[in-house]
Amino acid sequence: MKIIDLHNHTNFSYDGHDSAYEVVENAARNGVDIIGITDHQFSIGDRIGEYIAEMERLKEKYKDHITVLCGLEIGTRPRPQDFPAVLSEKLDYCLFESLDDDRAMDLYEFFEWKRLFKCDIGLAHTDIFKLCEKYGVDLLKILKRDNIFWEINFSGNYTYYYDFITSREKQRMISESGIKLSVGSDLHWIGDFDLKRLVQTNELAARLKNPLPLGITY
Ligand SMILES: [Zn+2]
Repeated sequence: MKIIDLHNHTNFSYDGHDSAYEVVENAARNGVDIIGITDHQFSIGDRIGEYIAEMERLKEKYKDHITVLCGLEIGTRPRPQDFPAVLSEKLDYCLFESLDDDRAMDLYEFFEWKRLFKCDIGLAHTDIFKLCEKYGVDLLKILKRDNIFWEINFSGNYTYYYDFITSREKQRMISESGIKLSVGSDLHWIGDFDLKRLVQTNELAARLKNPLPLGITY
């Protein structure tokens, strides 16, 4: 089983503490196989070129030790007006956060907007069961059809995570849906790195036998 963590912040984010180098080095030292850096698009702003270049540099530097992916976390509360989706060609993936939040953009607006993106897309810390109820749609079917992956965010800041790890029924639904599952720590400081929980969450995803995103295999 590979250990993946596709949600990490560096000091490109207003709330990230460490450099991208420190975050990747910490993950490599702890045996993580694939790390995705996903800083906030609104914090990076016009430093996006610098951000992508730094991730390219780290991909190359660490290629024999850990796979580094260049992601981006995009706020949806509300939808940002200043993010040119064309930039997504240069990214490995984008995470759209908290679509279940009451302040978030409308789900149908999201489906329209996301068509502009050229990279893979995932939902970060989003309670998809809550969204199914709110909109009366089978979101799992839509995620599967549109190849959108879903993150199990184990930061402890989102109650859907606790619901999910304790609900056999929800786990069964996710497993049967066949959607792609991701694991994210949402780390903002390497002092909070929790290897045990990271491994446990990866084990849960592996147990459900859902495919991983971005062509990653177990
Ligand atoms: Zn985040």
